[in-house]
Amino acid sequence: MLNVQCSFMKTAFNSLLHLFFPHTCAGCGSDILQHDQLLCLHCIDRLPHTNFHRFAGNPVEKIFWGRLPIACATSFLYFTKSSLLQHLVHQFKYNGKKEIGQYIGRRMGEVMLESSRFGPVDALVPLPLYAARERKRGYNQSGILCEGIAEIMQVPVLKNIITRKSATETQTRKNRTERWANISGRFELLQPEAVRDKHLLLVDDVITTGATLEACGQELMTAGNTRLSIFTMAISSRQ
Ligand SMILES: [Zn+2]
Repeated sequence: MLNVQCSFMKTAFNSLLHLFFPHTCAGCGSDILQHDQLLCLHCIDRLPHTNFHRFAGNPVEKIFWGRLPIACATSFLYFTKSSLLQHLVHQFKYNGKKEIGQYIGRRMGEVMLESSRFGPVDALVPLPLYAARERKRGYNQSGILCEGIAEIMQVPVLKNIITRKSATETQTRKNRTERWANISGRFELLQPEAVRDKHLLLVDDVITTGATLEACGQELMTAGNTRLSIFTMAISSRQ
């Protein structure tokens, strides 16, 4: 009886909360969702999971073949234009909605916990942004994803151990070789002792050619005896 009363009170309280603090789905704007949820069930259902974490030689790992000696790599979702995910990423990266990144990060953490391929991870490393861009945005989106992942995996996030040295021109219209020439040598490992002898999970938002992750990963590996895996929120179909 007490339990029934408790659950009734809880429901009544949540309804009141909803009345005074309208809460809508970050994906479609519907108000049919729990007060502690960011997306409604319909939108959660629409997220295009890759399930790559289950498969060796998946498309993300293939990107790094012959380029970077990684242990494992995966992307959580497929990124396509005009999709629900693009809408969420836009709000996350350009409208200050950090909670979207934290939410997706937690879902990414759950994927890592269920994966037997990646094995134990010692620490997360967010792909650094240029200092000027991070100041402008107020946060590094990869760092926010790491916060969510770390909450679930209970591993530390290594921030500020590697830096991106200087701003380059925009990467969007360059091919793979041009991008590589542009990005190689732009990262500097500041604390090699923090990553030596560790299994690191390098985290980024969307992987396209992998050039930036490759450059960052190579620099991380200069510490010696570093095992490197890669996890991105999404993989872009444009490669
Ligand atoms: Zn929705």
